[in-house]
Amino acid sequence: MARIKRVLVAGGAGFLGSHLCELLINRGHDVICLDNFFTSQKSNVEHLLSRPNFELIRHDVTVPISLEVDEIYNLACPAAPGHYQYNPIKTMKTSLLGAINLLELARECRATILQASTSEVYGDPEVHPQREDYRGAVSTLGPRACYDEGKRAAETLFMDFSRMYGVKIRIARIFNTYGPKMHPFDGRVVSNFIRQALANEPITIFGDGSQTRSFCYYSDLLDGLVRLMENEQDFVGPVNIGNPGEFTILELGKLVWEILGKEARFIFKPLPVDDPTRRQPDITLAREKLGWNPKVQLREGLLRTIEWFREIELDDFRAPTPNY
Ligand code: NAD
Ligand code: UDP
Repeated sequence: MARIKRVLVAGGAGFLGSHLCELLINRGHDVICLDNFFTSQKSNVEHLLSRPNFELIRHDVTVPISLEVDEIYNLACPAAPGHYQYNPIKTMKTSLLGAINLLELARECRATILQASTSEVYGDPEVHPQREDYRGAVSTLGPRACYDEGKRAAETLFMDFSRMYGVKIRIARIFNTYGPKMHPFDGRVVSNFIRQALANEPITIFGDGSQTRSFCYYSDLLDGLVRLMENEQDFVGPVNIGNPGEFTILELGKLVWEILGKEARFIFKPLPVDDPTRRQPDITLAREKLGWNPKVQLREGLLRTIEWFREIELDDFRAPTPNY
């Protein structure tokens, strides 16, 4: 039987974090969810509150915390462009101070710590698909830099805590992930398109919709994160976790309309500054080192996500910022 561990999930009330808490609770671990609820709300983990092996702490990772844990997943950071750009200085602080504080905690209690890094470390890539040894093309000056550069610096901090203090680290570079429990007002492409199409509003395409993204279903992503955390070879990464199926944004929009069986309607808006033109993970490393392969393809994942969006009441959700 697997050993029961005390696991801290920072950012545990968010989209990925709340699913991760549930998965770890179901595996029998003692789970502490820590969150400041900036881009989430307590209702995401409400169903877990009665579980004896679950605990919820309202806390901001920019402030140190002392706990006794065996593993730490650092997911605490706003992830949607509109919300991370709302207070860019805070976003940078969350990445940097959050990484430092949680790495110090890992050092103190000899925990293994995993960083939820991102494909944004590749910026607007000149290399396609993106492999982990590609160093990226990121603007230090643009509106996405608070997030991209914050995540890049966090990777550096992880490597330096590992080299200086022997902290056991893991770095996952997550590509666009979607699924049930995405915040309906997070402004990301999948949630916007589904919300708009269900309301019979035209879907907003930024630019001409020819930019691409590769969409990973949340359950595949979590499987990759847990494999990385628990791998016994102490494989650190960085490792891409994403689904290599690449789609233009216009194709995604058409697919949403097609699944709903409605006539496609679009409105075109200006492309945001520094919006990456293409994204596709090379997942050779994840396959080799973790035996990981995504299973849920886009149509199936969208179907399940749409089902969830049909069930929720939008009035139950507080928009994190006006930018969605
Ligand atoms: P999310 O916004 O739903 O979750 C982030 C959580 O972190 C929220 O609950 C938020 O309230 C919390 N948080 C933000 N700032 C905090 C702070 N200072 N202190 C404590 N908690 C704080 O986003 P998500 O999609 O679940 O993303 C989770 C992590 O994965 C993020 O770090 C994100 O950068 C990373 N990631 C996600 C994707 C994706 O496509 N979903 C892609 C790449 C990387
Ligand atoms: N996008 C869009 N309409 C929207 C939201 C996003 O066309 O309502 C585009 C956006 O410009 C980007 C892609 O969809 O090219 C993915 O955007 P998202 O914010 O989901 O993630 P990221 O840009 O961080 O990959």
